[in-house]
Amino acid sequence: MALIIRSSDIHAAGCYTMTRIRKGAAVAEYTGPRLRKDEADHLYEASPITYLFGLGDGSTVIDGHCMAMFINHSCDPNCESDEEDGRVWIRAIKNIPAGAEITYDYCLYDGGDDSAQCNCGAKNCRGTMYSTEEIRRRKKKAKAARTPRKPTSRSRKSGRKPRPRSAR
Ligand SMILES: [Zn+2]
Repeated sequence: MALIIRSSDIHAAGCYTMTRIRKGAAVAEYTGPRLRKDEADHLYEASPITYLFGLGDGSTVIDGHCMAMFINHSCDPNCESDEEDGRVWIRAIKNIPAGAEITYDYCLYDGGDDSAQCNCGAKNCRGTMYSTEEIRRRKKKAKAARTPRKPTSRSRKSGRKPRPRSAR
């Protein structure tokens, strides 16, 4: 697999493949030091951009230092992130032609005040890199802020899928 980093229409730099990639193939591993979420929050408190990828329940994050951290978000991606035994792989979900930009759906969460605007240009673009669950959660929160209501006793649990944290 030959991947290169070059400027992208989606955002700054992107990751491109020089060869065609078959559906199901592992394109890149998201590697970097493993940090506890609170450690990472402390470390990057003043940082506008982070490349943190939440593992499992999100209590541990990978601090991206790899090719995979250059892969941009798309609402119509050609890859997905896949957590396997504590390692995160970016895997092709369709056949990808040579020269194409590699993308996956970031499904961001925990982004604070950031709107995480999306510029992917896909027909089905959500307009934000947040996951659909996170968009719902934020809408609810915004509504609750406008009209105070009784708190519900049900707690919401975040999904099991590994998801990158938002740029802050
Ligand atoms: Zn989009």
